[in-house]
Formats: sequence, C-alpha cells, structure tokens
Amino acid sequence: MQALVVGAGISGLATAWYLQREAARRERDLDITVLEADDRVGGVINTENVDGFICELGPDSFISEKPWALALCRELGLEQRVLGTGPRRRSFIARGHRLHPIPDGFQMLAPTRLAPFLTTPLFSPLGKLRMGMDLLLPRGGQSKNDGNEETLAEFVRRRLGNEALERAAQPLVGGIYTSDPEKLSLQATMPRFIEMERKHRSLILGMYKARRAMPPANTTGPRYDLFVSLTDGMGELPAALVKALPDGCVRTGQRVESLQHDGDGYLLGGPELQLRADAVCLALPSHASGQLTAGIAAELTTELNAIDYASTATINLAFARRDVTHPLDGFGFVVPAVEGRTLLACTFSHEKFPGRAPSDQVLLRAFAGGAMQPGAALLDDEQLLAAVTHDLSELLGLKGPPLHVRISRHPRAMAQYGRGHLQRVDRIEKHVEALPGLALAGNGYRGIGIPDCVHSAELAAERMAAHLFG
Ligand SMILES: Cc1cc2nc3c(=O)[nH]c(=O)nc-3n(C[C@H](O)[C@H](O)[C@H](O)COP(=O)(O)OP(=O)(O)OC[C@H]3O[C@@H](n4cnc5c(N)ncnc54)[C@H](O)[C@@H]3O)c2cc1C
Repeated sequence: MQALVVGAGISGLATAWYLQREAARRERDLDITVLEADDRVGGVINTENVDGFICELGPDSFISEKPWALALCRELGLEQRVLGTGPRRRSFIARGHRLHPIPDGFQMLAPTRLAPFLTTPLFSPLGKLRMGMDLLLPRGGQSKNDGNEETLAEFVRRRLGNEALERAAQPLVGGIYTSDPEKLSLQATMPRFIEMERKHRSLILGMYKARRAMPPANTTGPRYDLFVSLTDGMGELPAALVKALPDGCVRTGQRVESLQHDGDGYLLGGPELQLRADAVCLALPSHASGQLTAGIAAELTTELNAIDYASTATINLAFARRDVTHPLDGFGFVVPAVEGRTLLACTFSHEKFPGRAPSDQVLLRAFAGGAMQPGAALLDDEQLLAAVTHDLSELLGLKGPPLHVRISRHPRAMAQYGRGHLQRVDRIEKHVEALPGLALAGNGYRGIGIPDCVHSAELAAERMAAHLFG
C-alpha cells in the first residue's frame, strides 16, 4: 500500500512519522512518500548557522503548555536537546522612542499586580482607570452564550477599553497571529479568555486567580519553560524527522499540481511526477490544499480558499554588542500598530536562548508585515532593511552597521482565523469525511503554532491509518 504526504513542513513530516509508527504498531507494510516542492525540508522552520550565529528565519520556539511538539521531540530522542529560555524573562512594548517593560504580572490583556501596573508609563491614567472597570463590569458578549461571536478587538474594548486594545492586546495577542484584532476570532484563537469571563466575570480577577493557582516551581517532575527551542535551533526538529523516516521517503523538488480520484485511491501529478496512492495527506497552507482539491471537491475548495493568510518577513541582524546602546535586558519587544512603524516586533535572540551569538555580539530578529501592515512584506530587501534599521535605531540606539543581515520572506504563511473560523473548519472536516483516505494537516484549521501543527499531523495520520488498515 502507498501513502503520499504533500508538503515537508513540520505538519507533513510529522504526519509521515506518525503514519509510519501506526503501520509498525499494526505490523503492516506501508510505503510512505513525502513530496516537497522546495529544495529543502522544514517549510517555514528554517535555521541557519552563520559565523557562530544561530539565525531562525522562521519560528524560534514553541510553547510547552500544549503537549504535542514536546511529545514528538521525546519520541525522536531529542529530549536532551530541548532548550529553555535565558534568565532575563521580560519583554518590552514600544511607546514613542522608548521601550517600556511589560509590567510585572501583566498577562497578555490585563494586569494581575497593582503596583507595577499603576506605575507603568505604557498606559495613561484614564486608560488604567478604564482597564480597572473590568473589575465591576457585568458579563457580556459571548460569555452570555448569545451566539454572537466577538473579535479580539470587540472583546478587549468591551472589557478593558480601547487603550488596552491598542497598547497591549493588539501587539501581544494579535501579534502572535500577525492579525488584525478587528477580524481575529477570539473563540478560534484564545478561547480561555471567554471562559475566564464566563467563570469569573472579571478578566483581571480570573487572571489573578489563575496566577495564584499556578503550582510553585519544582513541585512536579520535569518542568519546562513556557517557550522552548532546541540546542541548535528549530531546524533540528524537521532534520530529526527526516532521519527517522526511511531513506528516500522525503523527495524534495517535487511540486504536486493536480489531485484526482483513481478508483479507491488518488492520482497525484506534477512536472515529471505521476504517483498513485491509497491515502493522501495535504499538509499545506489551506490555500495550497484548495488548489489541489479543486478537481475533486468544489465545496471543500471554496471553504479552503476562504481562509485568509498573511505574509510576513523576518530580518535577522547581528551587531557588535558595543554598537547597541540599549542593554537588551529581556527577550525582545513588540510595537503597537498605532506607533505607525514598519517593525512589528523584535526578538533579542542571543538573550532568549543561550548559544545564539558569540559573546561580544548580539543577534536581533525583527518582524515585519502581517495583516496590519501588508505593504511591509512587499517592500524590496533594500527598502525593508532601511525601514527596519531606522526603527531599531530609534528604539535601541544603534551606533554601527550590522555585521550580518539575513532577510527571509514568508508569503501567505500565517493563517488568519476570522469570525466564523471554527464553523468553517467544521464544514471542511465534514467535506473531508466524504473523501475516503484523504486527510488535511497544517496551520489553517485548529491552531497555527508548531504544537498545533504536530497535533493536526497526528490526527491526519490516524485518519489515514484507519482507512488503510481498517
Ligand atoms: C515567520 C514565522 C514565525 C513563526 N513563529 C512561530 C513560533 O515561534 N512558534 C510557533 O509555534 N509557531 C510559529 N509560527 C507558526 C508555525 O511555524 C507554522 O504554522 C508551522 O511551522 C507551519 O507548518 P506547516 O508544515 O503546516 O506549513 P509550512 O511550513 O508552510 O510547510 C508547507 C510545505 O509545503 C510545501 N508545498 C507547498 N505547496 C506545495 C505543493 N503544491 N507541492 C509540494 N509541496 C508544497 C512548502 O514548500 C512547504 O515546505 C511562525 C510562522 C512564521 C511564518
């Protein structure tokens, strides 16, 4: 029997791995091939090691709270390579020409400690007062179960006010998804905030209680930092997957351009490519999957194509430490869209994870583009670098040119979960149910992070195995 996986990003490689595991568990023979259009594997995960710098051109970490990526690392024997964050655990928000630390106890949307919140210059006195009103306001919106789906912006404005939205929620929460908070479905992205309002009425109270309920350090078995990476960067994960799969299983430079039914199976075609498979997984951005399903399922295709994707760019810049005035004493900063800058966010990579830069040098990883600044991703390299360096100079006080620059583009790579996204995914799953042996995996459906993609891969492999082995 033959199974084909299209796409060798984390979703496709993990699907092949779980499918192989499932075939071995059932003691069944299965020929698995992963077809990748690019000449390298990993998709948006791409680590470059240059002159002692470990540059992450895509993601630099994953969260350990969602278990799937960590579990995969363990299965692949990478547990000893899992790397926690450095000691300077704080981040900043830009306001004017300055970076202000996120107040101690401030959790994504709301404060849980009074003194640091009252003294931060990030919010105006009126803005702080408005945020404090969350303690008094009744429940509303979705927490009343009235079926009226709120966006992140509507929810935050209602509970905490406009300043909390513009100065914190947009860059901190919207930034994770590089999304416009006016369009981002809260239900599909951060349902725990809705749940918090339902349970505690006030977000501030809910977060305060959640913080107090957190177990103290060292009370259970191995504990991981919230964000983890791998010793030599995120690229270790796709590399380990390729190594764990049979030789020749992953074929790069193979773009799939058509998908057709062929009896009980499927026929995949591309330039110099014609393969038949009993089961197929499309582990692609949903718009790319939509191109392939066009010939076999029109309604599914319409739904897949309706999921928006934003384009982003990362710019890795290395500097001599003496050439940056700011002490860079944190993991990085975010820039609210109201600041009107090209720069969305910047990670101090050498501080966030150990071993990312030689000791007398620093590595900055800047972000631009996303749904709020689509034009930035369209700038040519020279314009993009000039705009980002201008912003970094004003915010960090650059005194010399970068020693090394690496710009990386991610066109239509970040799925945007708009209002009604979960209902759309339910419909997509129903359409896929009607196509035996076909599975979808990737960041377009039930989570965009690496752990979510790994989870989607595990479910896709289960579906394929059920079809193949009964
Ligand atoms: C800049 C950036 C930073 C991010 N940071 C983080 C982070 O820090 N932590 C986190 O958890 N998540 C992060 N994410 C999100 C996460 O990395 C992605 O959602 C995830 O890696 C997507 O993996 P994937 O395999 O589903 O898709 P992709 O990585 O997009 O892989 C799809 C693959 O399919 C191939 N392909 C496309 N069309 C075809 C075709 N027709 N035929 C054959 N092959 C094809 C592509 O070449 C690609 O290799 C980030 C994303 C971006 C873009």
